Amino acid sequence: MRDKAPHFYVKWLGWPHSANTWEPLENLGNCAEIFREFMISSLAKNMAVVNPLSIPSSSSPTPSTIPSPTPSDRPATPTPTPTTVIDSLTQALQEFEDIFSQSPGPRIAVENDIDHQACPEGFTYLNTSIYGSGVQEPDMDFSSFCRCEPGQCAVENGCDCMIEAAEVNEFDQVPFEKDGRVSEKASRLLWECNSRCGCGPSCISKASQNGRKFALKIKRFPGKGWGVVLNQADPIPPRTCVARYTGEIITIKDAEVRERHYKDLRQTWLFDLDYNAEGEAVYTVDAYKCGNESHFFNHSCDPNLSVYMLGGSSAGDLDLMIPSFWSNREIRQGEELTFDYTGRFVAPWLRREEDDSDEEEEGDEEEGEEDASKRKSSCMCGAASCRKWISF
Ligand SMILES: [Zn+2]
Ligand SMILES: [Zn+2]
Ligand SMILES: [Zn+2]
Repeated sequence: MRDKAPHFYVKWLGWPHSANTWEPLENLGNCAEIFREFMISSLAKNMAVVNPLSIPSSSSPTPSTIPSPTPSDRPATPTPTPTTVIDSLTQALQEFEDIFSQSPGPRIAVENDIDHQACPEGFTYLNTSIYGSGVQEPDMDFSSFCRCEPGQCAVENGCDCMIEAAEVNEFDQVPFEKDGRVSEKASRLLWECNSRCGCGPSCISKASQNGRKFALKIKRFPGKGWGVVLNQADPIPPRTCVARYTGEIITIKDAEVRERHYKDLRQTWLFDLDYNAEGEAVYTVDAYKCGNESHFFNHSCDPNLSVYMLGGSSAGDLDLMIPSFWSNREIRQGEELTFDYTGRFVAPWLRREEDDSDEEEEGDEEEGEEDASKRKSSCMCGAASCRKWISF
């Protein structure tokens, strides 16, 4: 669909595939019978996806309790005609956009020129994560905080949050710049001010807490499904917060059960909160059925986003720090937003660290090859440094 008007990819009789073109409906008037057969077979394949789309009424439901529509809940299946199929597909993409219109900030558009897939069935938009069973929600009454006036959070002003931010940074500096971007000397943990602090939303450490600032488009890509691209003329500057990862926070035990299912789907939406863990993570964020635009971020071996863990809003529970995505270079209009699912990528300005992690990588790979439970998927990132497969 382009600008909400359906287009069809046409192979012209007597012409090679290289001559295929996208055509609007009005140009297909001479192909009525072929067109009708195509639409009806498409409808049969996609009706299950198109029909049940709905936005659950609860503002923050537990995904595992969202009931799947039963056959009796579904509207009676109409006799498929090209017009009803087009209406259904247009409506499905509009509902997809409506789900993401709940995201505060500039519009998130949806585009699918490739096939007839709509929003994943039953997907719920979450601006912040929800807590699954067995996970204790941080009690902010027990959170540390500073009493600074707006604009005053700084080590030299005695701000406890900035002192903590510098202490947890291996470079011994506050990792935030004056405009809220992360500094080049920031390690993976960013300690932020929180809702109890006196500094207000303009604090340099709160860039990740003030919502999305960039217009995005969730777009269907050939061969790899949905992805997210920047959808505005102004580029995203380097070292800028783009999104937080949201979903349902679950115990690692529950994650292991779900992981088996996701492996069968050959995809994963599990993000281990393992920054603080010497061994296994205690919790995992599952964004399969709920989350924000980051649900659709694809893997790249040479990504334009780096992951930082956010502390300060988890009431001291370091196992519940929040994953966040920050640009590691300028990102231009139309560029896809990607991160490294394996966690190996290191921002260009910290490449010295990467030399160390390369040695670990080799060890990981050997271990991975011996681990029969790991499955590999071909990597579609197209980067020059592509590792050709992702294990999950
Ligand atoms: Zn402060
Ligand atoms: Zn503070
Ligand atoms: Zn502050």
